[in-house]
Amino acid sequence: MKTAYYKDYYWKGIWEKESEWDRVMITTLFTFYWKETVETINFAKKLVKKPSELMVGGVLATIQADELEQATGIKPHKGILNVARLPQDSRSALTKGEDTMPLDYSILDGIEYKYTMTNAYYGYTTRGCIRKCAFCAVPKLEPIYNSYIPLTDRVELVSEGYGEQKDLLLMDNNILASKDLEKIINEIVACGFGKEDKFTQPDLLEIAIGNLEKGYNDRAYTRKAQGLIMDFYNKLKVGSEESYQVYKVIFDKYHINKLLTTKPENLLLAYEEIKNIYKKHFHPMPRQRYVDFNQGVDARLFTEEKVQLLSKIRYC
Ligand code: SF4
Repeated sequence: MKTAYYKDYYWKGIWEKESEWDRVMITTLFTFYWKETVETINFAKKLVKKPSELMVGGVLATIQADELEQATGIKPHKGILNVARLPQDSRSALTKGEDTMPLDYSILDGIEYKYTMTNAYYGYTTRGCIRKCAFCAVPKLEPIYNSYIPLTDRVELVSEGYGEQKDLLLMDNNILASKDLEKIINEIVACGFGKEDKFTQPDLLEIAIGNLEKGYNDRAYTRKAQGLIMDFYNKLKVGSEESYQVYKVIFDKYHINKLLTTKPENLLLAYEEIKNIYKKHFHPMPRQRYVDFNQGVDARLFTEEKVQLLSKIRYC
């Protein structure tokens, strides 16, 4: 019954005739993805009930706003998305602007592609830049320099939802220009990124199972938990009693040895049966933490005082 419905929904084009979504928001990135971006926007027009409820923004949309409007008929929102620019009914979800919201890390767990910097808090502590280099997009994207964006709440929210992360990856374009640099560095230290601070990996399987129990992004956490359980099984000594016990649970009882046959409810049951063995083998070693100034720093702004401040953290 359900299969027949979805067959019609797709093949008879019901999805296109009876658009389901009240609002679709698309963020664009690199200009070299022009073709894919235009195709995505034109496709999304079919998903939204009213064309006026399709919002497009982000880097490409800001830099090539006129060209994008010409290619899609949608007028992009330029610059940073903040509360004042959101439709009234979306403001409660984004009370202070997107810079204060934590990222949805579950998206990274829901895809096959392995992002190298998954084990990091991402964020900004400033926005924009005091300079206006002719070749750079930052003055267009973030024309007003914001010298301080709080970090602590985002770090705490990410830790609560997805577990502690090893590194701190800051996307600031010119952090050394901030008049609040001392406050920022002290906050970074207070968040657990002082020079001598170490990181101990939390139990990612327990976190994935916890998120499955909450019903939060089933697809992502089914993939994540299944992958972690199989990695664990493959590391057990072949022929050992523990390996045999885990084998029976994974292969015979709950059929979670392949992602395709894995049901979230079976993962939860299997976890209950193997968690003691899993925890017995879980001994993470403390590791050095780093702060990564991903966009680099403005060398012209170094002073003795700023170097002193930076020496409180281990950065790269
Ligand atoms: S200093 Fe860097 S971020 Fe600032 S405008 Fe120049 S290139 Fe862009």
